[in-house]
Amino acid sequence: MSTDVLVVGGSVAAVRAAEAIARHAPDLAITVLSDEEHPPYERPPLSKVGLRDDLDLAALTYPSVADLRGRGVEFRLGTRATALDVGGRRVEVVDGSGRASEIEYGAVVVTTGCEPIVPPLFRDLPDVYSLRRFQDAAALRHAVSDRTRSVAVIGAGFIGGEFAATLAKDGRAVTIVDLAEKPLGRFGDRVAADYAALHRDSGVGLQLGDGVVGFENTAEGRVLRLGSGATVPADVVLLGIGVRPSTEWLASSGVVLNNGIECDAHLRAADRVYAAGDVVRWPNARFGSTMRIEHWTNAAEQGRIAGINAANSVTGADPVVCATVPYFWSDQHGTRIQFSGFLSGDEEIVESPGQDGSLYVYRSGDVVAGVLAFERRAEFVKIRALLRRETSWETVQSMLPLASSPVA
Ligand SMILES: Cc1cc2nc3c(=O)[nH]c(=O)nc-3n(C[C@H](O)[C@H](O)[C@H](O)COP(=O)(O)OP(=O)(O)OC[C@H]3O[C@@H](n4cnc5c(N)ncnc54)[C@H](O)[C@@H]3O)c2cc1C
Repeated sequence: MSTDVLVVGGSVAAVRAAEAIARHAPDLAITVLSDEEHPPYERPPLSKVGLRDDLDLAALTYPSVADLRGRGVEFRLGTRATALDVGGRRVEVVDGSGRASEIEYGAVVVTTGCEPIVPPLFRDLPDVYSLRRFQDAAALRHAVSDRTRSVAVIGAGFIGGEFAATLAKDGRAVTIVDLAEKPLGRFGDRVAADYAALHRDSGVGLQLGDGVVGFENTAEGRVLRLGSGATVPADVVLLGIGVRPSTEWLASSGVVLNNGIECDAHLRAADRVYAAGDVVRWPNARFGSTMRIEHWTNAAEQGRIAGINAANSVTGADPVVCATVPYFWSDQHGTRIQFSGFLSGDEEIVESPGQDGSLYVYRSGDVVAGVLAFERRAEFVKIRALLRRETSWETVQSMLPLASSPVA
């Protein structure tokens, strides 16, 4: 078969790409190819929906999928891309029954995202889960539905933290284990301390600066053995130690792979090949740095831009530049944590004292590099809006009370 624009992947970047192409170049035929059986759905709720509430796949499905289908967009689901032939403008695919075929395209948008990292120690063990897809969430929730089973989360990042918070809200005991002594340490010591306190104050156990070295089955159930000699009850384990870009299928394509797909400022990876979302490394003109971002908003924005540029490569119109301000949110224990900006690690961190949460502003010379808030939503929104452009430190100083000395 052939199509004008082929979108590979079935999540937020894919759906935003398809929407943008349908709006921007309505005459082009669009095919969305995903190895998932279900059309694109929201992932963020998978770690946040309370255990007593239903995880409803239909309700999580992006509403625009129905509209796109109505406009003739084809969703080829349960079908995996296995190779890309840039010169021949073809993608090899294998469907759920193992049948191989090819799709010829005018342009392709790669949005294959990331997949969870599972270290060898955890492979093939029962009741060890990752959380990326709907099926993962359903299996994990089923595993913890027996309230007598203990739960451990490996990794104090956002997905592990959110699921630990979901368990705690349900009155469940859970321990987070992390090799790092300071969770979210890349945002500074005070943020790490606030984050740890948020979990501890809500009843989540934290074993920090300690790694898993093995498992033991005891009369009380399975336990994790840690490097320090401590043990953590762990009938069920959630691994939240990070993800890696899903690029294996591109190994023979000639597309440059370097912890993601290397793209230019237009999200172009090769002739008529564009990419968007968690899988992309690109030079972000807003910050003058090359980066790969693993957050929903970036995937959505890049999907839109890569979709437009792929359509333009077919119609002959000029491409647009992708310059975004990275942003994420996370909801844990009733607290919204938000960050916007881009940090190199050399910034000064300045606290803005205030009620109802904490807010940190990151200073790089005379400009603002980012802002992180626990609650403090209104102030956060104002600074986030300013960050669309380079913002002087003076501007933020005139808006907020700022502590006189940096906090880290
Ligand atoms: C549980 C959870 C909670 C999250 N919460 C937040 C949050 O609160 N805030 C936030 O900013 N971000 C959050 N994120 C991150 C956010 O969801 C991701 O940044 C976003 O999903 C990335 O979208 P994507 O389209 O680039 O890739 P992905 O969502 O990774 O999707 C990639 C798609 O490509 C498909 N695919 C992969 N390989 C192939 C192939 N060879 N052939 C065909 N299809 C293929 C996959 O099956 C999948 O459908 C969360 C993520 C998870 C998992």
